[in-house]
Amino acid sequence: MKNTLIALDKSGSYRVYLTITTEMCEQARVIHGATSLAAAALGRTLTAAGLMGLMLKGDGDRLTVQFKGDGPAQEILACANAKGEVKGYIADPSVDLPYRSNGKLDVGGAIGAGTLTVIKDLGLREPYVGRIDLVSGEIAEDLTQYFAVSEQQPSSVALGVRFGEDGRVTQAGGMIIQVMPGASDECLQALDDMLFLMDSLTLLISDSQKALGGSPDQLALLNDLMQRIFGGLPEEYRPEVLDSREIRWLCDCSRERMAKALVSIGKKDLQTLIDEDGHAELNCHFCRKKYDFSKSELIELLDYAQN
Ligand code: ZN
Repeated sequence: MKNTLIALDKSGSYRVYLTITTEMCEQARVIHGATSLAAAALGRTLTAAGLMGLMLKGDGDRLTVQFKGDGPAQEILACANAKGEVKGYIADPSVDLPYRSNGKLDVGGAIGAGTLTVIKDLGLREPYVGRIDLVSGEIAEDLTQYFAVSEQQPSSVALGVRFGEDGRVTQAGGMIIQVMPGASDECLQALDDMLFLMDSLTLLISDSQKALGGSPDQLALLNDLMQRIFGGLPEEYRPEVLDSREIRWLCDCSRERMAKALVSIGKKDLQTLIDEDGHAELNCHFCRKKYDFSKSELIELLDYAQN
């Protein structure tokens, strides 16, 4: 189901990617049995990765967004491709910290000080790797910094995941605004003022849900949301939709891939596994699916292993 709009303002000064990812973030929370704090950190990262995936040009292009810090969450990793398929994990899904003084989940505290690394596989011999020191660990600020420093692309990133009383994700979404070359200063000023006064994205999504009532289709919701965010701008600086896309959770793990991973540990370690455990159980980091390999299957894999 399409849940993402890509739009360009009438003056050609900025492009905006806007998505509602409530379903994907809830799915990730359930798969990883994550606390609200962990689900917020993971959901923000998945949403951003999904949007960045849609910015890739080639069909086979893919990217990885990795937050690594000295906080209790340790690591959050998300992979996305140009089709909007996203998967990810958080090293410690049970991470929990007191709320910040402003009543928000302490995602920055969960990640701590560290680095953000973006790896883009664009089908070239070497992948592109960009790395920055974290600004706050709050994900959106770090990505804004990443775009400015590593991609020399002035951008503004907003991400949010909100939870209901029962702990389920009730609203989640993301927005990335990219300044275009030759942007009008007047437009950028209007945009800055707008962003400064803007309510949180999840609050705005909730307003759209209430305004449309029931279970409106995602595109109607997005158009309403777009209007709420940009409707106050002068006519010539309001965005016009160019395209609608889908961002969704998809893990592409398989038995074959897991077998390859086993083969890659080498003959010696495989033999140890056969002799000592008599079987192997592998978990996919992304979707937690279990893969069991029997002794005879492991013996077959030995033939494919190097040294
Ligand atoms: Zn998987």
